[in-house]
Amino acid sequence: MWGVSRSTTFYVKSSYHFLKARREADGSHSSMQDNNHQVWKKLWKIKSIPRHVHFSWWILHEKLLVKNDLFKKGISSDPLCVLCGEHNETTSHLFMDCHWSKQIWFAYSLGVVFNSHDSRYVPFHKWLEENIIDVDEDIIVHVLA
Ligand SMILES: [Zn+2]
Repeated sequence: MWGVSRSTTFYVKSSYHFLKARREADGSHSSMQDNNHQVWKKLWKIKSIPRHVHFSWWILHEKLLVKNDLFKKGISSDPLCVLCGEHNETTSHLFMDCHWSKQIWFAYSLGVVFNSHDSRYVPFHKWLEENIIDVDEDIIVHVLA
């Protein structure tokens, strides 16, 4: 049945190899999945406070509910940013675009500057994913803190 073993006994290992081979054969194993694998492999090895790693998981999966999301669900009375009160609080606004956040990033030793008019601008969860792959573990620990 699984095409890997002639035995009628079900083995998790053989089904895993069958599904993996099929996924690779039909091309559904994309570079995005490779990125995801690299991100999680690196993130779970980091010697950081578990709460920070889990918080990152929420951001990377776009599951972190900020005020804009809560407003859409009828949980919050307004969608405005808790820091500036001027713009809708999305994850990208809260962590990148808010002028308060920009000051924190700029003051940080890495001197990160986000510019929403830059052609390389990506939503915060994408930026975090790319940087987890590309930077040293020490820097990731500081960013997550
Ligand atoms: Zn703001």
